[in-house]
Amino acid sequence: MSKNNTVFRPRDLKELDRIIEQNVPPFTFVAGATDLMVQTERWRAAANLIDLTSVSELHETLGVKDSSVRIGAAVPYSRIIKNSVVRELLPILVEACRQIGSVQIQNRGTLGGNIANASPAGDSLPVLAVLDANIWIGPARNGKFTIKKIDEIMTGPGQTILGEKQYIAFIEIPFHEREGQFWAFRKVGQRSALAISKLNLAVLGWLNDGIVKDIRICSGSVAPQINRHRRTEEILRDKKPDEKLIEQACQMIRREISPISDIRSTEEYRRHTTAEVLRDILYQTFAIYDL
Ligand SMILES: Cc1cc2nc3c(=O)[nH]c(=O)nc-3n(C[C@H](O)[C@H](O)[C@H](O)COP(=O)(O)OP(=O)(O)OC[C@H]3O[C@@H](n4cnc5c(N)ncnc54)[C@H](O)[C@@H]3O)c2cc1C
Repeated sequence: MSKNNTVFRPRDLKELDRIIEQNVPPFTFVAGATDLMVQTERWRAAANLIDLTSVSELHETLGVKDSSVRIGAAVPYSRIIKNSVVRELLPILVEACRQIGSVQIQNRGTLGGNIANASPAGDSLPVLAVLDANIWIGPARNGKFTIKKIDEIMTGPGQTILGEKQYIAFIEIPFHEREGQFWAFRKVGQRSALAISKLNLAVLGWLNDGIVKDIRICSGSVAPQINRHRRTEEILRDKKPDEKLIEQACQMIRREISPISDIRSTEEYRRHTTAEVLRDILYQTFAIYDL
């Protein structure tokens, strides 16, 4: 870090917003620093560091509020994983958090950091998309936060709509019908731990008498941004899935993604494997219901 850098450790949202108001940007918001510290040049050059883990509301909020689960942007993954309410109401989110990095990364890393880092491979992002999460962006104006959906925040790899004075404050996830609910989060990486996703897939849906009432499918790491697969969803919605229908859905998701070849994987591998992961999820899900 440069010698004359300033580090702010606001105790609450009021103090955080005052610091932002009274100082000149750029600011570097930091939570777990698991992304920032490995971006060595950026970390060295970081000016006006603002530690969000000292902000009580952002670090402590985790629980039910107004028919939804609210999670502070600076709550570490390990607390989300251990939280009994989240485990009961949002098992898909717990599963994604469990698959992020290692225990050490989970003890420091946060949803706010995953969202603001805006990697197409961010594992929480497809899950927050299928859960229809609301992302609360501060500072609040007249007590009101700006609220966006996850796919409105990232504009490209490493790029977001966040202004230089804006930060992610809370992640709010509405309650979902639990009757007939099925879900899956799958990630394909180089290894079974500490691996950045070559691709990931989140599926959340509801069955009624063996018919798919609704389904949401979102992928990560197979396009510059996460992607809801609405045409694939359409094939499955209001139908009783069988092998033929699942094959149609797999063909469609192959067409709906636009992966690239990079150091982690090739375009064709990603296209093929995304379809196979979807097939596996659908076979497992519908086998449970004796089809
Ligand atoms: C060894 C290793 C393994 C990893 N494995 C995975 C993995 O499996 N899956 C995965 O998705 N990621 C992985 N990561 C990446 C990283 O751990 C996650 O993206 C994590 O969620 C980042 O959270 P953080 O709090 O540490 O963010 P930080 O590093 O503190 O911040 C990341 C970025 O977000 C900004 N920021 C942080 N919080 C906010 C906020 N509330 N508002 C606005 N801006 C903010 C920072 O300025 C910075 O630009 C891994 C990283 C490492 C080092």
